[in-house]
Amino acid sequence: MPQKTESKKMSRPNLRDSIYSLTVEELKEWVKEQGEPGFRTSQIYEWLYQKRVDSFDDMTNLPKHFREKLKQSFSITTLQTIVQQTSQDGTVKFLFELVDGYSIETVLMKHHYGYSVCVTTQVGCRIGCTFCASTLGGLKRQLEAGEIVSQVLKVQKALDETDERVSSVVIMGIGEPFDNYEEMLAFLKIINHDKGLNIGARHITVSTSGIIPKIYRFADEEMQINFAVSLHAPNDELRTKLMPINKAFSMDKLLEAVEYYNKKTGRRVTFEYGLFGGENDSIEHAKELADRIRHLKCHVNLIPVNYVPERNYTRTPKHQIFAFERALKEEGINVTIRREQGHDIDAACGQLRARERKDETR
Ligand code: SF4
Repeated sequence: MPQKTESKKMSRPNLRDSIYSLTVEELKEWVKEQGEPGFRTSQIYEWLYQKRVDSFDDMTNLPKHFREKLKQSFSITTLQTIVQQTSQDGTVKFLFELVDGYSIETVLMKHHYGYSVCVTTQVGCRIGCTFCASTLGGLKRQLEAGEIVSQVLKVQKALDETDERVSSVVIMGIGEPFDNYEEMLAFLKIINHDKGLNIGARHITVSTSGIIPKIYRFADEEMQINFAVSLHAPNDELRTKLMPINKAFSMDKLLEAVEYYNKKTGRRVTFEYGLFGGENDSIEHAKELADRIRHLKCHVNLIPVNYVPERNYTRTPKHQIFAFERALKEEGINVTIRREQGHDIDAACGQLRARERKDETR
């Protein structure tokens, strides 16, 4: 067996490892340990990611004894679809059940450039952002890389029926990806590999609430992956109110880490900025934000946030959203407004799970 990291051991006790959790290098090592020729690795990867079979028995060009070994050593993760909601704009939201009964959300979005999938990295979340339904009930457990990969595969299999392809992946579903760093990294390597799902690094985006040590580590990985930081406020007081993680990792330190990322990778960062009516959406807030980030290679993505029933946050009126955007532009900041999708379904992160699985989210 390939060496497992601590988080892999902790993630799903008493269950066989998902074969989807193995990077090509890890699988290669395992195949070698079994005394099998190297080309078996490519064969297995092809069955898993190109032919997308659900069983080791379907891997018909592998010798029977080797298929048995695979069965004894690994599982092929299966996700059960509990709910599937389709929006008028083509957005599809899935609630999947994991082998131990917990549930996760995955969203498929249709864009003019293709299909993207938003994946979940943890069952629940311990970050505690005050506007987010995913954190209700806290963190239940980490997802194994294979369980994150399986979300993309499950959606891809649905698209296979019409011969379409997942062309991009965003890691912005339930959970804080940097709080499950090793598994997230393995996931990135697997979906990016040309023998895996072959999704180009520039078509993958990872978003963090701001776990600073991991931002430095991620910068040092020097991957060409798009990087986003949930900022949501122009100052510490407001950010701490919206995102308690700001108490541990202040904005100054966060922006220093972003600057390091800019310098190390040469890449820009996207700041996600959710607009909450009367909280963080005034022209003064826009100007304050511009002053804080002007020196960075960055772009601001404004997210009109819907009413959050748990917190009584309300929606910023349309004219105010445009005024905020204009104010940032006038300050020389690159800015866009995120297109709203899945408006008529439970599309905000964690809403579907909170509604369907009340026992998991209290
Ligand atoms: S917004 Fe993201 S980091 Fe914050 S609580 Fe929700 S899932 Fe966790």
